[in-house]
Formats: sequence, C-alpha cells, structure tokens
Amino acid sequence: MTTPQFRISELDYDQQELDAVVEVIKSQWLSQGPKIEQFENRFAEFVGSKRALAVSNGTAALHLALLASGIGPGDEVLVPSFTFVASVNAVLYVGAKPVFVDIVGPHDLNIDPVDMAAKITPRTKAAVVVHMAGFPADMDAILLLASEHNLVIVEDACHAVGARYNDNPASPLSQKMAGTAGTVGCFSFFANKNLVTGEGGMVVTDDPEIAERVRLARSHGMTKSSWDKAAGRATDYDLIDVGFNYRATELTAALGLIQLEKLPEGNRRRRECVARYRERLAGLPGISIPFADRLDDSSHHVFPILLEDSEIRAEFRSRLGQRGVQTTFHYPPVHLFTHYQKACPDTPPLPQTCDAANREVTLPLHARMTVEMVDAICDVICEELGALTPSQVNHS
Ligand SMILES: *Cc1c(COP(=O)(O)O)cnc(C)c1O
Repeated sequence: MTTPQFRISELDYDQQELDAVVEVIKSQWLSQGPKIEQFENRFAEFVGSKRALAVSNGTAALHLALLASGIGPGDEVLVPSFTFVASVNAVLYVGAKPVFVDIVGPHDLNIDPVDMAAKITPRTKAAVVVHMAGFPADMDAILLLASEHNLVIVEDACHAVGARYNDNPASPLSQKMAGTAGTVGCFSFFANKNLVTGEGGMVVTDDPEIAERVRLARSHGMTKSSWDKAAGRATDYDLIDVGFNYRATELTAALGLIQLEKLPEGNRRRRECVARYRERLAGLPGISIPFADRLDDSSHHVFPILLEDSEIRAEFRSRLGQRGVQTTFHYPPVHLFTHYQKACPDTPPLPQTCDAANREVTLPLHARMTVEMVDAICDVICEELGALTPSQVNHS
C-alpha cells in the first residue's frame, strides 16, 4: 500500500512536544500529578469554565459526566444517531436508555431541537449534544428545552475544542466556548482530534458538586491521590463510592499544555482551508456542503461534503484514494448497528440521519494543511466527479 499524499488528518507535533515529554520522564513522576493540575487549570481558563478534570479519554469523560449528573437506570437520554458510537455507549454505561434523535438536515448535521422536543417523555432526564465537525449545535433552543423539562445537558464537544457559540450575536451564549453552555462539557484528545495527546479527555463544568463527583469517580472513588501522598498533602484515604480508573498521565498533560498553546493557530489554519474548499467546491454539480453559511464559530475538526448521489460514494472515494487523497465518512448511524438494533428496537426512522450518512464524504483537513494542498485536492475532486457524473458537467 502506498501512503496517501493528502492524509485525512495529520499530527501537528514538533520539538516542543518532544522536549515536554522528556521533561516529564526526567521528573520521574508519570501518573496523575502537577502537570495534570496545570493542564486542567489552563484548559478551564481557555474554555471559560470554573472546573476542568482530566481523564483518560473522551469516552471516560462522557461516562463520568452522565454519572456525576445523576443519570442512571430508568432514565431516558436524548442522543443523536449521527455521531461516534461513544456518545451513545456512555448512556448504556450508566444503565440509562438512549433515545435517538434525528439531525436537522443536509445543511445542518447537528441534533434537531424540534425532534428532541418531540421525543421528550416524563422519563427524559438528559441529552447528549454533539457539535458535529466542530459546529456548535443550536444551544439556545436546546437550553430552552432543558429549562422547560429540567434536563441535564451533556455536551459532547470532542469535535469542538476552541469552537464558539457565535452563530447568533443576539444570544446570551455568544462568544462563549463550546462545552460551557450545558451542565457538563466533554472533550477528547485522541490522535485525530484538534488537540492531540494520543489518548486523553477533559470534563468541564461550573457545578462544584458535579466536578467533585467526577474527581472522585475518575480514581476509584478514593478521596486522595498518590500525588497527594507523595507531595505530603495526605497520609491516608477513604473510599466513599465505587469509581473507576480513568486517570490521565503526566505525559499526556505535558503534551496537552503544548497543544493547547498551538490550538488557536491550528484552528485558524483549518478555517482558512475550509474557506478555500468552499470557494472551490461551491456550486460544483453533484456536491453540497453542510454548514455552508457558518465559518467563524467552528473548530473545523473535519470537512464533510455530501454527494448528491449516494450510489457513487464508494467509487468516488476509491478514485480519490488512487490519486493520493485519503477520505473517510462520518458516521454510520449508531441506531443501525447490530447492538443498538437489539438494545433500542423501538427506534423510529431517522430520515435525515440516514440520508446524510449515505451521502457523506470527509475530506482531508488538519492544522498543517495549506490552501495549495486544498487546491490540489479540489482539482482531483473536480476531475473525478466529472468523470463519474459526465452528464452534469459543463465542459465549456
Ligand atoms: C472522539 C470522539 C469521542 C470519544 O473520544 P475518545 O477519546 O476516543 O474516547 C466521543 N464522541 C465524539 C463525537 C468523538 O469524535
């Protein structure tokens, strides 16, 4: 196999990350300690949240967010199906029931507040809201529903680190960072995200009680950590609830501190590339671009396009691959996976989700991309799409 010339995502690491890891190794303290605390403080400051708690990954963040918000057996939780499976698996971890909600449509791939309202029952206690591709969902409408129905809102902001709710300048949320509007916000620092530590995650909240429950539950339910003991802050500990081992390491915190500094510039470069993609692809027959009327509010985690004809997707992706352009797709609908067909057999059709999922293709986008690279990719797209849909192309 040849490596693609244009990869779907690429690491933005340099000597700074190498130095940061070496420093941690020389310190000889590798498990949760002072670097984690520093990373948490900087991250809380960056997103504008009172508390931030580092955990081992984004999935653990979602699990602890639901758990610490008191969601459990007998509760229904509204979730999109158009998401990564972890957003929904976390609901099952706490013993609650996922209730799948459709997305708005091909122009807006986020959860639809109208369909959310239609699916609320007396048992609905929470919603997991995903900010797809880095575009914040309609939090004004969602927070209104939450206050009317007393819902916990967990924001799955795994795509949206650095995104802002500035779609509507009249909104009280305007300019706040994604992840800070709901009850709890969850982030992932997996290897393909905008802020990368390999594995890693963060829970943010303004609620001190939720923060304290997350802090305990990420480390077995123990009241003191090994670092507290090593630093002379504690000699013994109590166990007040059964928790998990969802701790992150000092190595990932050191990487996270560097990556957080790079994030604004990386997101700016992503935005520049998205603007160029849109210039080149807008109006091209056979393609439409979701979220096309929004640019500044997104963290641009990925760049999704929708083909007009779902039948050509496999061939289109294969032709791009042969010409060095790696693609992927987001996401196979969660409610159609075997497990969820069994676990949630009463899910009604989600027509917008299925339509978008059948036609979506994700193009390369990362912080190291240039507009010249976007141009080269768009040249390939224009040629291959033209060859696949000859009747629609104007050869003048
Ligand atoms: C990556 C991702 C997660 C899970 O994060 P991990 O760190 O891989 O556990 C959850 N939800 C969404 C939308 C994601 O993209």
